[in-house]
Amino acid sequence: VKQHTTTRAATRAATLLLAGVLAACSDTTTSSAPRAEPTLAERVAALGFRTDMIEDHGDFVLVEGDIYLSKAQLRTVTVVDANDPLRPSFQYRTTNLVGSPKVYDIKVDVSGLNSQTSWQTAAREALTHWSGISNSYVRLVETGPADITVSTTCTSSNVAAYASFPSGGNPGSTIYVNTCFAYSTTYAQKVHNMVHEFGHTLGFRHSNYTQQGESAGTEGAVHIANTPTSGNATGSVMNGGTALNSWAGFAASDLTATRALYPLPKPVLSVTNSGGNPLVSWSALPGATGYGVVYNVSWHYSNRETGENYTLSDDYPLGTTTGTSLLDTSNSYTGVGMCDWSYGFEISRETYRYYVSATFANGTSQGFVLAPTGSC
Ligand SMILES: [Zn+2]
Repeated sequence: VKQHTTTRAATRAATLLLAGVLAACSDTTTSSAPRAEPTLAERVAALGFRTDMIEDHGDFVLVEGDIYLSKAQLRTVTVVDANDPLRPSFQYRTTNLVGSPKVYDIKVDVSGLNSQTSWQTAAREALTHWSGISNSYVRLVETGPADITVSTTCTSSNVAAYASFPSGGNPGSTIYVNTCFAYSTTYAQKVHNMVHEFGHTLGFRHSNYTQQGESAGTEGAVHIANTPTSGNATGSVMNGGTALNSWAGFAASDLTATRALYPLPKPVLSVTNSGGNPLVSWSALPGATGYGVVYNVSWHYSNRETGENYTLSDDYPLGTTTGTSLLDTSNSYTGVGMCDWSYGFEISRETYRYYVSATFANGTSQGFVLAPTGSC
């Protein structure tokens, strides 16, 4: 988890970094000593965070401005060598993510912001932004019992807010708004901060984390396919050090990343013989409002002599339902889903499939299975 510091933080960090370098020099004579229990800083470093911005708060520490790590959590961290090839490769998401279907039903309590009504409204708006991403299964709703609690604290003046990362299939459980932040913020800035912090609870690291001087560690920084690898000039809401940015919508890479990490679930199908007809069944998907079933026949032809190669495909809609099964009365159950033929150099394969599309508020998803209707 991570986050939002101002440029003042850079000055502060540089000061602390200098102190760290001096301390390291004085320590060099003990470098060959037997390995002791890892220090707090070593465990923080193993998680991939900077060690020059650790703030000790008793039973937890804040790192890199806005990342919350409990000491109980840190005590479980195994320290691996910085050059270990098994360390995650640089990038955007933590190793732990929110499970499915939990990600569709993340309950958020913002009552801890009752004394900060503008922040509270911004938090509620942030829920709608995350929940509104098309073709994503992310849904955050204000209800209880809470998976994420949002409340206030007073900590270092250069931190606007901070959050925790996912664990055990659940989202990061806390977001704190810092009432001692040195800068007054507009509503649009508050929305930006809230969207950013909820992003951390979903497992997003900073999109510019390498530029921020952060590393992967055991918390993980796994690159998400088809997103930029070197920071994000196009304004990702997950850029770090942006506490004073105003909400301007998600960047394209934010949307791509969210859909990649949390896609709509696909129906998983099975087919049984019901009185001579195929009965297509699937498990209900939370949030799906209905299902459509299509029977598909495709024919793939290839000629080994000429190299000619093509596929024909036909769809036959069988119906829609809000239930979880549909009887195909227009085909007979044969137990065979694929037929192969060969005439000289000509080879062809006829394949029969059932497709089921699930409709969600944010889009549709589709699964398929072979239809046991062939008579070869
Ligand atoms: Zn952050």
